[in-house]
Amino acid sequence: MSLNHEQQLILKSKLDNSKQAIQAELRLHNPSHEQQQGGEGDGVITDVLNHDAMAQFLHQHAEWRALQKAQARLSENIIDVCCTCGALIPFARLEAEPTVERCIQCQAALEADDQRLHLHLHPSM
Ligand SMILES: [Zn+2]
Repeated sequence: MSLNHEQQLILKSKLDNSKQAIQAELRLHNPSHEQQQGGEGDGVITDVLNHDAMAQFLHQHAEWRALQKAQARLSENIIDVCCTCGALIPFARLEAEPTVERCIQCQAALEADDQRLHLHLHPSM
């Protein structure tokens, strides 16, 4: 962890804000959840949602999990450590996208791999 305290707080508040935005949207689509809001909001995504909200819910669920993972990485002081090669992720990159887990090089390599997978579904090897 090479981030100073202030940088950690910035990332923490960004993650918190993103989570609150998702919760607000979930409440918007499911007004009945309003009454269930207590202090702890994590249970909201485990509630059964109607079918109309399902597609959006799945998207938000993925985002939610990424946010929770980033918060865990932040609390373990490894949020700026690339999970593939261990290199430090620049704060500017984290600030732009707090849920990233890889340095730019590893992310690029991963996406290149993904593309190869999509282009060659049946490799001849
Ligand atoms: Zn890396």
